[in-house]
Amino acid sequence: MLSVRQVSVRYGRSVRALQDVTFEVPDGQIVAVLGSNGAGKSTLLRAISGTLRLHRGALTGGQVVHDGTRIDRMDPAAIVRRGVVQVPEGRQIFTRMTVEENLRAGGLVTPAKRRAAARDRVFALFPQLAERAKQSGAVLSGGEQQMLAIGRALMCEPRVLLLDEPSLGLAPQLVSRIAGIITEINDGGTAVVLVEQNATMALRVAHRAVALEVGELRLSGTADELARSDDVQRLYLGGH
Ligand code: ATP
Repeated sequence: MLSVRQVSVRYGRSVRALQDVTFEVPDGQIVAVLGSNGAGKSTLLRAISGTLRLHRGALTGGQVVHDGTRIDRMDPAAIVRRGVVQVPEGRQIFTRMTVEENLRAGGLVTPAKRRAAARDRVFALFPQLAERAKQSGAVLSGGEQQMLAIGRALMCEPRVLLLDEPSLGLAPQLVSRIAGIITEINDGGTAVVLVEQNATMALRVAHRAVALEVGELRLSGTADELARSDDVQRLYLGGH
């Protein structure tokens, strides 16, 4: 179980990006994080993965607890070794490396004898990546780059996968493909925190959801409850 407890984050002195945010990610569940631009969604993932400092941000209050251990003071590598792994926004694959090399880089924290099996699982999930294993990351389509970014994170054998806008910029067909893949990853027992502006997709795959508004937690509940809520309809699903 991953618990975010009364977390507040600032960038520099003036930007309060999160204020007192509390929610839980039960083992094996998908929790969607909804919110409009600038609501604090990426910041929330950074607070969990320990990467706030890389963005000149800092936790000014609260705790992040994973399986009973506080992780908010750990460095990002230690958090990855615990199995809490973030796929960064904007994919950020290594474009000068081949697909296979990207995956190998992702698997460095995994014990050597398990890496081949991890890679085989990634290739089974993304046959397109297997076909393009020897090609450079630079020649992949947007959708394939997203798959590679997810595949690279899966090489760490995550127990909690943090996904930042995986559907961003993808054609509708690919969005449903990514949704199916998230479900498949979760079926293997991995919990997922899914940050999405595409609320329709997110609420379809998630068990639970929270909505952030200007850094504060505005709503939380089961995905079905949120999908039925008037506020969610109005704010995130284009209803009236
Ligand atoms: P988006 O969907 O646009 O990525 P978001 O919900 O992920 O939005 P964040 O990126 O977490 O929102 O940003 C929350 C707030 O913090 C915004 O006001 C943003 O301008 C600010 N912010 C984010 N990163 C930084 C940074 N490195 N330095 C200063 N302010 C930042």
